[in-house]
Amino acid sequence: MTQSMDQDIAERKMQFLFQLRSKGVTDNRVLTAMEKIDRGPFIQGFFADRAYEDTPLPIPCGQTISQPSVVALMTQALDVQPRDKVLEVGTGSGYQAAILSQLGRRIYTVERHRQLIRTAREIFDALDLSNITAITGDGSFGLPDQAPFDRIIVTAAAEDPPGPLLAQLRIGGIMIVPVGQSDAVQSLIKVTRTEMGFDYDELRPVRFVPLLEGLAKDEYD
Ligand code: SAH
Repeated sequence: MTQSMDQDIAERKMQFLFQLRSKGVTDNRVLTAMEKIDRGPFIQGFFADRAYEDTPLPIPCGQTISQPSVVALMTQALDVQPRDKVLEVGTGSGYQAAILSQLGRRIYTVERHRQLIRTAREIFDALDLSNITAITGDGSFGLPDQAPFDRIIVTAAAEDPPGPLLAQLRIGGIMIVPVGQSDAVQSLIKVTRTEMGFDYDELRPVRFVPLLEGLAKDEYD
């Protein structure tokens, strides 16, 4: 790589962090994680050179890697603590899980496309992110064997926060989930579990692919 290409990438990364700050990402732990985890490896092929733009991009299996500022704002709202056990539903490219791996103790991430899990695992291994466990499955049922979780993040839109996920949230725990019909306006919801029940806060409008039932029928299975 030439020196000017290095400079170009350094410049784009600085711009990337500047964009996050300008969109309301103020938590330094989140900014540090976003600085450390390069989005580049999570986007392969045609769109690879757009990795540092604040935009969602296509990934295999007809899915999308979320917009970095949305990843950052969701992560900030999740308020992950160093000892936390975290569940992510919707691994996709693995980028969100990689960010979480910098903040919590143990990350479980579940995805219904086996092919996406394979690729994400390869990236986690290459980056030495050893505190992530990536599992093929229908994440709307959570992972009963690993429950309860301190934090749960859903990165696909549900019509309602799934009951099994609410049940697997520890008292005092936080869940971030986009709620709404696909292709309509969805709202990002923060659910806090208290001794008494669940508190719901509406954070912002978002747009995610839908949370679907069952395993995907991948052509490479
Ligand atoms: N967090 C991802 C982006 C996720 S896109 C990233 O950082 O790149 C949403 C993902 O949720 C898609 O890959 C989709 O296949 C997956 N998904 C949808 N319904 C699911 C379900 N019931 N269980 C697990 N994954 C699901």
